[in-house]
Amino acid sequence: MFEHATSTDVLVVGGGMAGLAGALALRENGANVTLVERAPEFGEVGAGLQMAPNASRVLKRWGLLEKALEIGVQPKHLVFRDALTGEELTRQTLGGEFAERYGAPYVVIHRSDLHRVLLEGCEAAGVTLVNDVTVESVETVNGRGVARTAGGTDYEADVVIAADGLKSALRPLVSDDEPVSSAYVAYRGTVPITEDTPKADLEDVIVYLGPDCHLVQYPLRKGELLNTVAVFKSPSFERGEEQYGGVDELEAAYEDCVPQVQAALKNLATGIRWPMYDREPIENWVAGRMVLMGDAAHPMLQYLAQGACQALEDAAALQDASSGTVFAEDGVHPGAWETAIREFNDVRAARTARVQRTARVWGESWHVAGLGRTLRNLLFKSRKDNDFQYNDWLYGQHGDGVPAVDAPSIAASRVPA
Ligand SMILES: Cc1cc2nc3c(=O)[nH]c(=O)nc-3n(C[C@H](O)[C@H](O)[C@H](O)COP(=O)(O)OP(=O)(O)OC[C@H]3O[C@@H](n4cnc5c(N)ncnc54)[C@H](O)[C@@H]3O)c2cc1C
Repeated sequence: MFEHATSTDVLVVGGGMAGLAGALALRENGANVTLVERAPEFGEVGAGLQMAPNASRVLKRWGLLEKALEIGVQPKHLVFRDALTGEELTRQTLGGEFAERYGAPYVVIHRSDLHRVLLEGCEAAGVTLVNDVTVESVETVNGRGVARTAGGTDYEADVVIAADGLKSALRPLVSDDEPVSSAYVAYRGTVPITEDTPKADLEDVIVYLGPDCHLVQYPLRKGELLNTVAVFKSPSFERGEEQYGGVDELEAAYEDCVPQVQAALKNLATGIRWPMYDREPIENWVAGRMVLMGDAAHPMLQYLAQGACQALEDAAALQDASSGTVFAEDGVHPGAWETAIREFNDVRAARTARVQRTARVWGESWHVAGLGRTLRNLLFKSRKDNDFQYNDWLYGQHGDGVPAVDAPSIAASRVPA
């Protein structure tokens, strides 16, 4: 239709976890899929990633779980401790009944490893992968999505999946909102596990909860690496400084914590800091033949460890929504994309909004001080291992369980980036 445009059934914008998963899902359905990524190479920066059963079930569906397990770790427990005393507050056993209940294991994996598993999945399935392409805009012309790129090559497709992350260039087609800063900053790091590494807790995911800070540790790569993430509230952000959360604030943030927490700070790579952002949930992700997915649609604070997990859920939902209508037995029906992406949006928006909102509230509960901390600790300690009431809605197959948490006061207190 457009003389100089590259034509494809599906154009995916962005080669992060969401884009790769979305591309693979639609390729599995039989679509001709092209994925464009602005970076010169595919890859992921950062450290470990927790993959809960709601996400590992999706890998299982595509036959990729075994690959992830070959390189990942199945931790034995998820343990919460008070960072000021070291006291254990609650634990969830992750094997046995947990894995059976949710139909797949809890896995911790280096994010570059999970990214590679998805990338290799795309390559094997026949997704066309293109680097060095920055999409600047998408418009819908005569029932096709037309993507304009910085390099001047246009792409046209029956549908464009915008998986271009938190600062999505395509989200403005459906919303004029901005990323919201939480005032918290993360530092991450992986170090080899050696004979000198303290042996306690090396088979678990450990979360130390402190006032205005927390620290997470877990093993990676079959127990060869120790992953550490430190997250704290930046005083310089509160003072309105633009470059907030520097290394100078890191040690001070943890000065009241137990020695094992303070010692873990030396495992961090301090060259990169990660300011923590999310956005307000939005209901509509569709503009003509373009639909958002992953962080472009529903970026969330990382306290539930669900951003990438929700992107995998998105991909599975997109696969389901399009399989019957778009990829009918008598061939691909381009017109049916409108129904498919609307159905995908409808199935996913309420669910991901709930995860976004709950992640905020969950993070607030981690960082309380004083009386709030005493009450939080009492509540956590009253919970029994294998009490699934807080997990079912998130990890279960049907999203049922505890009621949704709405937090308008927290939403209102956030500052746009
Ligand atoms: C500290 C921290 C810890 C976390 N821990 C977890 C965890 O344990 N479990 C979990 O599930 N999630 C976790 N997350 C969240 C998770 O990392 C993200 O939700 C996930 O990586 C988002 O993937 P994405 O593909 O949507 O976006 P991104 O990873 O941002 O990918 C977007 C891609 O699009 C490309 N792109 C952007 N714009 C364009 C354009 N215009 N044209 C072409 N390409 C473009 C980018 O280069 C990039 O490759 C964590 C996040 C943080 C910050």
